[in-house]
Amino acid sequence: MQEITDPQAMRAWARAERQRGRRIGFVPTMGALHEGHLQLVDRARSRADRVVMSIFVNPLQFGPHEDFANYPRTLARDRELAMQRGVECLFTPAATSIYPESPVIRVLPGSLGDLLEGATRPGHFAGVLTVVAKLFHFVEPDIAVFGRKDYQQALLIRRMNEDLSFGIEVDVAPTVRELDGLALSSRNVYLQPDERRSALALSRSLRAVEQAWRGGQADAQELTRRGLEVLTAPNVHPDYFALVSEQLEPVKRADARTVALVAARVGKTRLIDNVMLGEGIGSDTAVRAS
Ligand code: AMP
Repeated sequence: MQEITDPQAMRAWARAERQRGRRIGFVPTMGALHEGHLQLVDRARSRADRVVMSIFVNPLQFGPHEDFANYPRTLARDRELAMQRGVECLFTPAATSIYPESPVIRVLPGSLGDLLEGATRPGHFAGVLTVVAKLFHFVEPDIAVFGRKDYQQALLIRRMNEDLSFGIEVDVAPTVRELDGLALSSRNVYLQPDERRSALALSRSLRAVEQAWRGGQADAQELTRRGLEVLTAPNVHPDYFALVSEQLEPVKRADARTVALVAARVGKTRLIDNVMLGEGIGSDTAVRAS
């Protein structure tokens, strides 16, 4: 596995590979890798000849009171996991090489970036889209793979790709969960054992809403009430529970394409999760905790 830190060297490597006729698959991450990230690698692998993974904790997407300084950084372990999973090129740039100075020009998500996650985390998605646009320029991938776990993020990246004509194939992979339903997240390492138990309230609330909908309840208000009712556990502070269309519009009646999105603080750790009602949590990938 190649490891590249310099963005220009990254671009040169990717261009040389493409000139040899190889399709490049790209998996951008912030590291602290878990099986959710590694399944994105598998997806990229099956659709491309060379897999590039980036590890970059992007300062631009963290708010002033968020966990940028404490975000888990486990590069030695990440390197090992990426190599074992067959990543050909690990791109690990320094913040100073991605942002030699604070960018004046940023990619703005528009109104879709002000809802839900964006309402709680102002500027978050502008930070995400700006770094993803820059990473796309350095890697120039044929296909880039993102996780459904960050539903709004994946939607905005798809939109950016279309609106700004990147011409990249954007693929979105199912959420990877532990066997008890907890969606894998780099932030799960913050959870104390009692908080780990409480954190199950998120997936439980999604499952409850999915079951109520399958049982014939389609009224979005009723389903939201049901979700919030189940989202109660010690130390769980709900941020939002929302039923929206695939494009994040509010819905009155839920159908198979309706997405239930939940965010809550568990202790000090903020977690998110979602399910598309017609697919259900059961269609996500379950793995044993490592
Ligand atoms: P992050 O390192 O948290 O920024 O995530 C990098 C990529 O991995 C994003 O596309 C995420 O949506 C994806 N991802 C994170 N957790 C999961 C998960 N549990 N299942 C599937 N994809 C995930």
